[in-house]
Amino acid sequence: MASADPGCRPIWEMSVTTLCRSFGWSLAVVACLAAGCALLRGPQAPTAEALHARQLMVPVAGVSPQQVPDDFRAPRGWGAGIHGAVDIVARRGTPVLSADAGRVLRLHRNRKGGLTIYATDETERFVYYYAHLNAYGHGIIQGTHLARGQVIGFVGTTGNADRREPHLHFQVMVRPRGGRWWKGEPIDPRPFFVSTGRAR
Ligand SMILES: [Zn+2]
Repeated sequence: MASADPGCRPIWEMSVTTLCRSFGWSLAVVACLAAGCALLRGPQAPTAEALHARQLMVPVAGVSPQQVPDDFRAPRGWGAGIHGAVDIVARRGTPVLSADAGRVLRLHRNRKGGLTIYATDETERFVYYYAHLNAYGHGIIQGTHLARGQVIGFVGTTGNADRREPHLHFQVMVRPRGGRWWKGEPIDPRPFFVSTGRAR
């Protein structure tokens, strides 16, 4: 005896409600894809305005906004996409400064980034990622409240950085809603730096 399987009905047998629901989902998917593409093109007005309002400091002592290299879109090899961050070269041990006021989300050690810090701004709209640190700043732990210019670490080569070229890998991401804050869409921070790195 053949039993009716409601999950496999041909489209002409679907009710109007079911069809509308499927169509609605398709529209939602298309809208999400469109939004994703817009993010890839660069920050749109509201995000850019919000990031401008953060008044970012270059997060390495003594480095001016003009000295930050334009390597955000540098290709990272086959299938690896773009760099999505800036590499600020400095002598080993140079203080790494919090680019903004906010708080530490997490200290994390990983193969590529070495000693790293994830932090967020006061509005919790953005995530800042600092990598290849030689060491963490005194008293920096998860949850530490940060002032702009506070020493959070020191430039180094931990992770996959070339030992002969100490630098800070600095990334700004839009903090995604719902958890996975380390997966946010990266933004080129260069247009948003307003001051030279100065330890407070
Ligand atoms: Zn990098």
